[in-house]
Amino acid sequence: MLELGFIVLLVCGGISYTIGTSKHRGGLGSFCWGFFLGVIGIIVVALLAPGIPPAPSGMGSMACVRCNARQNVPLEASSFECWQCHTTNGIKPGLFDRRINREHDGGS
Ligand SMILES: [Zn+2]
Repeated sequence: MLELGFIVLLVCGGISYTIGTSKHRGGLGSFCWGFFLGVIGIIVVALLAPGIPPAPSGMGSMACVRCNARQNVPLEASSFECWQCHTTNGIKPGLFDRRINREHDGGS
């Protein structure tokens, strides 16, 4: 009986993982919601707002310093013009938002 309950929790975790990763959310966090809270966790993950999709390969995600609009910029670029407010933003080497890029490479 205990084994059946554990299998149900694993299935709930798998469903939560699938829903979470399809919404660009962290896989481990989504799995934990379903694993520890069962059906309630699945509902929570299903109701979460979608995450930010990852930048295409060769590009990084940057936020404008003036209006905070997020945009994809080639990794080798030294500056970019904001699509929203047309401010020219300089890019210091290594300044790309690594948290967002790492978040969608399989981390939580
Ligand atoms: Zn801007």
